[in-house]
Amino acid sequence: TEFLDRAERHNGALNVYITLDRQKTLAEARAADQARADGSAGPLAGIPVAHKDIFCQEGWRTTCGSKMLGDFVSPYSAHVVEQCQAAGLVTLGRTNMDEFAMGSSNENSHFGAVKNPWDGAAVPGGSSGGSAAAVAARLAPIATGTDTGGSIRQPASFCGITGIKPTYGVVSRFGMIAYASSLDQGGPMARSAEDCALLLNVMAEFDARDATSLAREREDYARDLDRPLAGLRIGLPKEYFADGLAQDVAGVIDAAIAEYRKLGAEVVEVSLPNTELAIPSYYVIAPAEASSNLSRFDGVRYGHRAAQFDGLNGMYEQTRAEGFGWEVKRRILTGTYVLSHGYYDAYYLQAQKIRRLIANDFQAAFAQCDVIAGPVAPTTAWNLGEKRDDPVAMYLADIYTLGVNLAGLPALSVPAGFGSNGRPVGLQLIGNYFSEARLLNAAHRFQ
Ligand code: GLN
Repeated sequence: TEFLDRAERHNGALNVYITLDRQKTLAEARAADQARADGSAGPLAGIPVAHKDIFCQEGWRTTCGSKMLGDFVSPYSAHVVEQCQAAGLVTLGRTNMDEFAMGSSNENSHFGAVKNPWDGAAVPGGSSGGSAAAVAARLAPIATGTDTGGSIRQPASFCGITGIKPTYGVVSRFGMIAYASSLDQGGPMARSAEDCALLLNVMAEFDARDATSLAREREDYARDLDRPLAGLRIGLPKEYFADGLAQDVAGVIDAAIAEYRKLGAEVVEVSLPNTELAIPSYYVIAPAEASSNLSRFDGVRYGHRAAQFDGLNGMYEQTRAEGFGWEVKRRILTGTYVLSHGYYDAYYLQAQKIRRLIANDFQAAFAQCDVIAGPVAPTTAWNLGEKRDDPVAMYLADIYTLGVNLAGLPALSVPAGFGSNGRPVGLQLIGNYFSEARLLNAAHRFQ
């Protein structure tokens, strides 16, 4: 109950949890104790975990940060939640997030912004800002997150914790409320790479209920943690160190690279020439998929329904007008537009072609190196309110994370130091498909 007590005591100040439910948590803890007593306990029995409020969990309110699902109690659990329960993990609570995972600052939550535990004036990053802040403030030892365009790595960087986005298809999306299905991927957030490896071991398993889940042999993501780094070839993409990267962040990344050299790594320059195109490509594809995924919130099957309306279409309109926030509406409109007849070829198809070029860029780079290193974001955490009314400025801050999702690659953020304002800076490590164990190894040796 130590974490639960802390979470209850400090949640008011930080707003990291949307839902805490002492009775439910204690019931899960008792079940874990019982399993330990009768010898059937899973490998992580009794350890508390905080779940991003995007993973459906039976009997728990699952809001996805939206008014639309403000009272939604899920009748079933996501595969990730089932996996955690089978391992004996105990649910501490449900963490705050940008509405439907759309955002980079957690200010798009219907339940209010999260504060960065390092500096109450700063955003925690997003969209998994509640999970990142919960771990950073020691209100949870480990947490789940999702990453569609950086939502695990960027809040991990802003809050000074470790988080890994696995290869697309490694973690099942079953029961994970869909934002952009071809990009969404769940993953662990924790203080250390080692804890991330242990949680990823639990989260990653084939699941026939997700058509893109990969049927692979189980691996132990902790197996290589202590492997020496001698001979590791680290590629630095020159486009990640160009204009736009803040000097203090660049300084921290340079120091991290120097440390890797000391650990025996070789450093080579690589190029990802289509880096800048990741932003327009992503901000066409993600809204396109979102506009389709979010059509299910119609006031009929579940979630919010307007109290007053005129006819069936009026019910849809009124329900969606009331239930969705501004950013979600902006993306639905953008997505509908780029998919519409006459614009499809000009926008959506072009974006898909760029997506291929970006994936090819990474493969060309991996011919020269084992791991790509660079910043997670161009700056440290910005101030609450600073970019809230400027969506384009917010989108531009995603420049170093989006390409990874477009290509489906694994990548992590590991704490590397602090910017000139005292706010944390993460180092991003990107690997080729299924190189999670190597990435966690590289992060672990550095920590
Ligand atoms: N900031 C990006 C967006 O708003 C990424 C969000 C995410 O990864 N869920 O779409």
